[in-house]
Amino acid sequence: MQFARQVLPSSTSEPKRSTFAEPVVVTRDKHNISRNNISENALKVLYRLHKSGYHAYLVGGCVRDLLLGLEPKDFDVATNASPEQIKALFSNCRLIGRRFRLAHVVFGRDVIEVATFRGHHTEEESNDSNKNTSKQSKEGLLLRDNVYGSIEEDAERRDFTVNAMYYSIADFAIYDFANGVKDLEAGVLRLIGDPETRYREDPVRMLRAVRFATKLGLRIDDAAREPISRLAHLLDNIPPARLFEEYLKLFMHGKAEANFLALQDFGLFGFFFPQIKAALKNPDSYEHRMMYQLCVDTDARINGGKRVTPAYLFAATLWYPVVAQAEQLMSEGGLVEYDAIQIAAADVLGKQSRSISIPKRFSLPARDMWTLQIRLQQTHPRKAERLLTHPKFRAGYDFLLLRARVEGHPDLKALGEFWTEFQKGKEVGSPSNPERRGSGRPGQAHQGPHDSADAPKKRRRRRRKPAQHSADGAAKKPADKS
Ligand code: ATP
Ligand code: MG
Repeated sequence: MQFARQVLPSSTSEPKRSTFAEPVVVTRDKHNISRNNISENALKVLYRLHKSGYHAYLVGGCVRDLLLGLEPKDFDVATNASPEQIKALFSNCRLIGRRFRLAHVVFGRDVIEVATFRGHHTEEESNDSNKNTSKQSKEGLLLRDNVYGSIEEDAERRDFTVNAMYYSIADFAIYDFANGVKDLEAGVLRLIGDPETRYREDPVRMLRAVRFATKLGLRIDDAAREPISRLAHLLDNIPPARLFEEYLKLFMHGKAEANFLALQDFGLFGFFFPQIKAALKNPDSYEHRMMYQLCVDTDARINGGKRVTPAYLFAATLWYPVVAQAEQLMSEGGLVEYDAIQIAAADVLGKQSRSISIPKRFSLPARDMWTLQIRLQQTHPRKAERLLTHPKFRAGYDFLLLRARVEGHPDLKALGEFWTEFQKGKEVGSPSNPERRGSGRPGQAHQGPHDSADAPKKRRRRRRKPAQHSADGAAKKPADKS
C-alpha cells in the first residue's frame, strides 16, 4: 500500500487518534436540511457510495450554508472509500491533486468533489521524508497531506467548527464533531484546535477566517483573532497561485469592502500587494482611496448582477505604483509617457507575481487599461472615434471615471465627462484649453474643460501638424498641443 495508513471506518477497533468525543447528532426532525436543497448530482454520488457499503456524507461549507438557509456554492462529499474505490464506482470520475488526493465526479459542468476521510500523521511519518504521507516545513506548514483516517480525525483536521459538520445520507442526521451547530447559532467563528498551530500549519486559514466572518456575518472568536496580526507574515510562504485563488474569493463575491477593511485591520491585506502596502497605512493616500472605492464599486456591480473582471481590479490596485515608476522613468530616463507606462507596467506586474500570480488573461487587459489612460487624453474627434472601438475601451473609461472620483482633480473629471458625452453621440468640442494643468503625473488629464456642446462647430480643413506617434498610434508627448 502506497500510504502509511489504510482507510479506517469509524467502527474500527484501532485505538482512536482523535481527541474528539462522540459527535452531537442532530436528527432529521431537528434540522432544516432537506434533500430538495441538495443538488441531484451530489445525491447521486452519496447514494451510490452508500449502496456500495461505504459511509457517505455531505461536509463542510455546504452543510453550514444549508443550515443557514443559504444556497451552497458547491457540494463536497466525504467518505471512507479510498480514491481508487471511488474511481471504481463512477465512470465519470477522475483523481486529482498532489497535496490532497481527491476524486472529482464530473456531471457536465457540475463537479462533485469526493474526499476520503483524512487522518493524522504519526511522528515517524512526519520525520520520514521518503514516505508519501504528510510533511511539515520548519514553520509548521503542512506540505503534503495524504494520510487517511476516521471521520473523527477528518473532522479534527478541518479549519472551523462550523465547517466540521457532516450530513449523513444513511439517516439524514447531522454529525457535529466540534459543536459547529452551537457556534453557528451563536454567530461565532471558532477554529478547531490551537489557533496558532492551525495558522502555522496553513496560514491561508487567517484569510479564510476573515472571509467566512464577513460572508456569514460571524464574529471571529478572541482565541482565533489574537494570533493573526502576529502570524500575518506567514502568508509570505504561500504559493502565489493559491493566493490568487483566495484573492478572488475575497474580492469577487460581493464582500470586497468588508474584507478589505478587515484584512487591513489584521495586517493581512498588504501581503497580496506589497507594492502598495506602505501607502495603505495612510487612509488619505490615493492608494487607499482607490482600493476602498474599487471595493465599494465592485460590490455594487456584483450585487447588482453586473460582470466584474479581475483584470480591472488589478489595474486599479496597481495603478499608482505604475504611475510612480513611469514618472521616474520620464524624469530620469527621459522616456515619453506612453513608453514609460509600458515599461513600468511590466516591472510592476513582474514584482506582483511574487505575491499573487496573475494569469496572462488578466494581466494583459490590465496593461491595456493602463495605456488607455494615456490614449484617453486624445480627444480629437477622429482619434476619439477610433478609440471607442478599442476592445478594452469600456474598462479603460470606467477606470478613468474611478480615478477622477479618487483624485478629485477637475481636469480628470472634465476628461471623464468628455468621454461620457462623446459616447452618447453628443457633439462635444475638443477641450478648449489644452495647456497641461494637471499634476504632471502620467495619465493625468492635461485638458481644460471641453467646449460647450452648443459652441459653433469649426471644421478644420487643414490637417494639423501630426504629433509624433508610437507604433499603436498614441501620441508620444504628454503635452502635445493641438
Ligand atoms: P465556500 O466554498 O463557501 O468558500 P467552504 O467551507 O466550502 O466555503 P472550501 O474551500 O470549499 O470552503 O472547503 C471545503 C471544506 O474543506 C471546508 O468547509 C473545511 O471543512 C475544509 N477546508 C478547506 N480548506 C481548509 C483548510 N485550509 N484547512 C482546513 N480545512 C479546510
Ligand atoms: Mg466549498
